[in-house]
Amino acid sequence: MSKKLLLKNAHIEGIRYFETYRKNGGYEAAEKALKMTPDEILEEVKASGLRGRGGAGFPTGMKWSFLAKPEGVPRHLVVNADESEPGTFKDRYLMEFLPHLLIEGMLISSYCLGSNVSYIYIRGEYSWIPDILEEAIEEAKAAGFLGKNILGTGFDCEIYVQRGGGAYICGEETALLESLEGKRGNPRLKPPFPAVKGLWERPTVVNNVESIAAVVPIIEITGAEYAKIGVGRSTGTKLISACGNINKPGVYEIDMTITVEEFIYSEEYCGGIKDGKRLKACIPGGSSVPIVPANLLLKTVNGEPRYMNYESLADGGFATGTMMGSGGFIVLDEDQCIVEHTMTLARFYNHESCGQCTPCREGTGWMYKILKKIEKGEGKMEDIDLLWDIQRKIEGNTICPLGDAAAWPVAAAIRHFRDEFEWHIKNPELSQKQNYGLAHY
Ligand code: SF4
Repeated sequence: MSKKLLLKNAHIEGIRYFETYRKNGGYEAAEKALKMTPDEILEEVKASGLRGRGGAGFPTGMKWSFLAKPEGVPRHLVVNADESEPGTFKDRYLMEFLPHLLIEGMLISSYCLGSNVSYIYIRGEYSWIPDILEEAIEEAKAAGFLGKNILGTGFDCEIYVQRGGGAYICGEETALLESLEGKRGNPRLKPPFPAVKGLWERPTVVNNVESIAAVVPIIEITGAEYAKIGVGRSTGTKLISACGNINKPGVYEIDMTITVEEFIYSEEYCGGIKDGKRLKACIPGGSSVPIVPANLLLKTVNGEPRYMNYESLADGGFATGTMMGSGGFIVLDEDQCIVEHTMTLARFYNHESCGQCTPCREGTGWMYKILKKIEKGEGKMEDIDLLWDIQRKIEGNTICPLGDAAAWPVAAAIRHFRDEFEWHIKNPELSQKQNYGLAHY
């Protein structure tokens, strides 16, 4: 049984509301934190080893320590709630059912960073959640945990919720800041990084919802205790949103010591593959990370079990490993067609490209067109090499990571499932009637 830190009270009826949240220990971490100095809080976050839960896995304490503090210039905390990565819905769960956990985490983090005005930027499609967050903000304010002179400390903090317009690219932190400033959400060239020039050119920390919520248990139990949970540099707990061909899709909190096999097959988590089918492949960290076939998913190349943590999932690098990413765990059974699946993703990235850089704007379109052709049984063998060539020219040559995110799924699909691409090309008539998975099992 995994230790629960974030979801430990999620089952309590009415936990969404201040009164119930408070009765169950809510805002006690904030009270404790407001008696500490900002530097002491920063040291706790650093000691916890918390890594950004949005996808990149960058150490949160280190990110906070980069925040510039020029005299007389306001600083901001911006929570990235633009959770648009296909397969990822764990932040939605936190905001919908535990909004005060996020607000409390924001209060502690804002105090630590010196942000008197903090923001939650939430994806437009989560249309019902801003009301939940705004209600929680009002409740916290009425109880003296937000607003002026919080708990008599002299610290002021306001939180505003900003709805996005539904663009995936606004999950990239600089595009998010552009959008928050009221402009089109185009990613900025870095440097300067947001920690130096962020929102309205002011020093800004942008963190994912789960990262900020995790600050609450870190203060509750101390950074050192938090770091004891998990393994190696994968400390604390991680929320995983599991979906696809499994018996029990949902949001799970894991302590990163369990194996991938246990996560997929145990009743506590995914409950096995639906309809007793065989596992074919999985994308463990949201659609942008490489797909891994079943044999490499359950074991590393060295024959070790693969664990649900940052290091083990990446074991073998991009050739055989994958990434923890955003924790969007997508499971594919034996009936699924990898070419069709990759084509669907390529269409998504092509649609969501902001169009600023040529490799991404043009390359994603070409990849989608070629994949569509192959999937329809109209491809040629040389198209596979062309696809490979295009993805190589996108990776690492763009302003923001969307380019890489579009390239990696194509590269991994060709690397691990080239036979499926060839089958579509060699069997044009069959491939128009049924997908590779159904034709082979
Ligand atoms: Fe825009 Fe794509 Fe370039 Fe990112 S990589 S800035 S999404 S064109």
